[in-house]
Amino acid sequence: MENVDDATIYLRQMELGPMQNFVYLVGDPVARECVVVDPAWEIDTIVETVERDDMRLVGALVTHTHQDHVGGSLESWGMPGRIPGVEDLLERVPLKVHVHKAEREFLKGFGSDLVQVDNHDTLKVGRLTLTFMHTPGHTPGSQCFLVDGRLISGDTLFIGACGRTDLPGSDPSEMYYSLTQRLAALPDETVLFPGHNYGGDSSTIGREKRENPFMRYASLGDFLRTMGGGRIITP
Ligand SMILES: [Zn+2]
Repeated sequence: MENVDDATIYLRQMELGPMQNFVYLVGDPVARECVVVDPAWEIDTIVETVERDDMRLVGALVTHTHQDHVGGSLESWGMPGRIPGVEDLLERVPLKVHVHKAEREFLKGFGSDLVQVDNHDTLKVGRLTLTFMHTPGHTPGSQCFLVDGRLISGDTLFIGACGRTDLPGSDPSEMYYSLTQRLAALPDETVLFPGHNYGGDSSTIGREKRENPFMRYASLGDFLRTMGGGRIITP
């Protein structure tokens, strides 16, 4: 568990659950308010960490609605059981859940607690402003969160890799544009915080543009040929 807070930002990265998911707490250390990104696993740990840090949880942000990021039944994955997720968090802490409008339909039963967001929307957390970036490809409503020179990237961009594009709802062409147009346009010094611990805890956009093969394809055709009709084949 790493604490990266300073005077301007409170940012805690927690690797929770059996699938190397990173859950983030992001907020304002002066106002002592924070949001949680992708609360799927170990809800007790999330709530207790917020309390121990003397912060107040004021919202939840969803990078995309796969169960390992929001919780839910594992039946569709052919596995027994369920991941506690947003549903259990809302029983502990009343708050709004921010999901991209393209995936609103996949979060059922939360009523007015759900807030649909779109590209370029912003959210104030204390003195901080978070910006939502729509980065479809892994899923139709995948989004990243930009805050104070940091990017929380969900399953769009990993260190040295990108999210799968062979799943229902995936679109390798959209992934290509999300990686090479939207995320590649961010300043090189932007610090990257991915949705899984697949290659370390953080990187930068500049380093990924130099070293991540999935950000380096010259054309959509080359990218799609490597993705093999939707399956990732590491080049
Ligand atoms: Zn996913």
